[in-house]
Formats: sequence, structure tokens, C-alpha cells
Amino acid sequence: MDAAHFDIFINALIDELTPSPAPEDDVVRTLFHLLDSPRRVVDDGRLLAVLAAAVRLGNVCDYVIAQAVAAAERAGIPTRKRLRSGAQLLTALGVAPAAAYQAARVGRAAYTLPALTRQHRLGALGIEFVDAVGKGVARVGARVELSDGERAQVVRTLMIQTTPSGVSKKAREVAIAQTAAQSSQGEEVVPVADNADLNEMTLYQNDEGRVAATLDLDALTGEELFAALDPLCRPVPLPDGSPDPRSTDKRRADAFGQLVRTYLSGSGRPTSGGVLPHVTLIRPATAAMEAGEEQGVDMLGFTGPISTVTAELVSCDSTMGTVLVDQDGAPLDVGRSERLFPPHIRKALGIRDRGCAFPGCGRPVSWCDAHHINPWGTGGSTCVDNGVLFCRCHHTMIHHSGWQVYLGPDRHPWFIPPYDRTGPEPPHLRSHARRTLTSMPTAA
Ligand SMILES: [Zn+2]
Ligand SMILES: [Zn+2]
Repeated sequence: MDAAHFDIFINALIDELTPSPAPEDDVVRTLFHLLDSPRRVVDDGRLLAVLAAAVRLGNVCDYVIAQAVAAAERAGIPTRKRLRSGAQLLTALGVAPAAAYQAARVGRAAYTLPALTRQHRLGALGIEFVDAVGKGVARVGARVELSDGERAQVVRTLMIQTTPSGVSKKAREVAIAQTAAQSSQGEEVVPVADNADLNEMTLYQNDEGRVAATLDLDALTGEELFAALDPLCRPVPLPDGSPDPRSTDKRRADAFGQLVRTYLSGSGRPTSGGVLPHVTLIRPATAAMEAGEEQGVDMLGFTGPISTVTAELVSCDSTMGTVLVDQDGAPLDVGRSERLFPPHIRKALGIRDRGCAFPGCGRPVSWCDAHHINPWGTGGSTCVDNGVLFCRCHHTMIHHSGWQVYLGPDRHPWFIPPYDRTGPEPPHLRSHARRTLTSMPTAA
């Protein structure tokens, strides 16, 4: 289709979409005039009519895309192109992944939802709304068996909502009501709270690189989650004895992190390609950077680029692996052995620090990372006198904030709180495990 044909096609579409103009009021034909010379627009009514037509045109285009993707999937085109789904056909055309999956989902569900699809085809509904209704019907259908008539009724109920979020809220209400109705008729329905088939977890990385999740769990799995998190959520007082400043949600998030790390540090779990899956840090080799190559960025296997500070934290901890790569991303060295604290040194650190060494903390040894006091990357050795045990919370604090740790003459860790370099240095604090009453520098 060349440009002239495309113009005719668009004009025909606009003719279809806008009500027949009165002879003196040629709103339709003014769309292009408006776009070409916006300053001549003085008439609110005309501009609003054009806006409405353009929105409707967008809806119709979304309908065409959804249908075309579904047709491509039925014809097996993605498989022949070695793609997993129609959505991948769209992403290859530059559509953002979320929009691509939405279009494919709407296209697939279209034939089961004729009334909804008719409105979408007329451009009266936006694809977000159509998708919300489709998901709502699927949600109800997952809980109770729906006949064609019942499904049509659910669609009608959802279609009178005004926003996609209103639709999903209504769908939850309908699902609960339908389940209650069926069970009161004596039909065998798994109570919603017990139904593991409804469980869902979404996990995605946002634009800032943070990872967000939502959970929808049956009561038993939820109970297990509570039971696992509860002992890890307890407040930990600050070094001066004042209460833990973390909010409940923050403590829960920290506890969840601990749960995952404890799981990753165990060995009785499924392997991937013959090895236990673990956090992997991919670091550009310094040699490549020194040679004046474009400076590489530290990366994590799943979540991508990370700051240097966090990369230092990862490479400090004994349970995570680092892979050094050259400027083309080819591995140079799997660099584990010398950097990591071997079990006998960890054991000695456990005996000395008896848990997280941070003043006032004392979380158990099994929760702790072994931190290099002098970073391994700048020549610090892997020995008892260069190691300190920290829980993840305090390990992060040591790397990310102004706290400093050193090994005192008593061969125990001592801490310097963050301070303004222009002011006097604050008193140094003993490690959690060091409870003698003597003070530096005469401590035994
Ligand atoms: Zn560290
Ligand atoms: Zn700690």
C-alpha cells in the first residue's frame, strides 16, 4: 500500500467512524486541515469531534491488530518463524511487550465473548477495557462452570463498568457471588480460600530496575508464607538500644530476602543444567577497561545492570558467584576459589563473631555473609583477620553507608559510625559479640 492509497484508506475509515456531517459542517475532511494548520482551530465542537473520531480509530486499529494476531496464531505463523507466540510477532514489529501480550490475549478470547468483541470492533471500547472484561470473565470461569448464557450475563455486568480497574473489582464480586450461589445449591465447589488453582504470582522489573511482585495464594500456602516469615520479621534494636526504625512492611521485605537467601544457600533444591542455580555477577575485566575500551557495566544474570557499590557487595559475599568477562562478553575467569571464604575460615569467623558482628544485631551465623574488611578486589586477603560476619541488612549498610569496620588490637571487629569529616570522630563501637567492659585500646 503506497502513501496515496493509505490516505484513501484512512479517509474511508474516518467516514465510517464519524456521523454523516451536515452539508455545511465537514468535520471529517477537516481532520487533515486541523493537523496541518492547528492555529486555524477556533471551534471547540469540531476539535472534540476530531478527537473522538481519532480515539475511536485507535480502538478499531487495536481490534484489527488483536484479530490479526489471533489469526496468525491459528495459522501457525509464530511456530514457523520459531517464535513462541503471536505476541512475539508484535514485539518484533516494535510493539512494547505488555501491549503485545494484551493484544494476543484479547484476540484469542474474542470468539468466546461476542457481545464484547462487537463493541470493540465498532471502536466503542478501548483495548485495556476489553482486556479487563476478558480477564474478569476468565477469573469467574476459573471458580465456577459458566454456560454460554451465564458467560454472556457476566460480560454484560462487567461491560457497564466505566474503567478497567472497576471491571476487575466487579469481576471479583461476581466470582464470589457465583461461587456462593453454586455451593448453596449443593454443588461440590472447592471453597475459594482453599482453591490452589486460582493461585497467581506476578514478578516484573520496573523502569527503575526494581523488582515488583503480587501474590494471590490459597489459605494454606499463605499460612506457610506467614509461618516462614514470622520469625524473620522481628524488630532488631539499634546499637544504642533504641527501637528498630524499620516499618512492618520493610521488615517483612527484609525477611522475605532472608528466606530466599537461606533457600539459595541450601543444597537440596532443583538444579539447572547440572548446577544449583545461584546469583551470578557478570563483571567486565579491568584489563579491558584499562585498554581504553568502552567501560563495561556490572550485570546480574536476571535483572541486568547494577551499581558498582552493589557489585562490590555481591563479590564480597561467599555464597554468590562472579564471572569475569572481556569486552565481548566472553568469560575470562570463573574467579571463585581464592576470593571466597572457605568453610574452615567461615567456621572460625562464626566462633569469633557468634552471628552478625554489627553492634546490637547478633543475627545467627547461618544468616550471615562473610565480608572482606579490605575488599578482595583491591588486594584484601581471604583470612580470618580480614573477614567479618554480617547479616544481609548490615552487610548492605557497611557497603552502602558511611559505617566503617576494622579489626582492633583485640582481633575483634570494631565500628566507626558515619560522621561529618570536618567534626570530631565519634567513639568506636565494639562488635556484637565483644561484651567486655574494657575499652579501646587496652581491650584484651
Ligand atoms: Zn562485604
Ligand atoms: Zn546484622
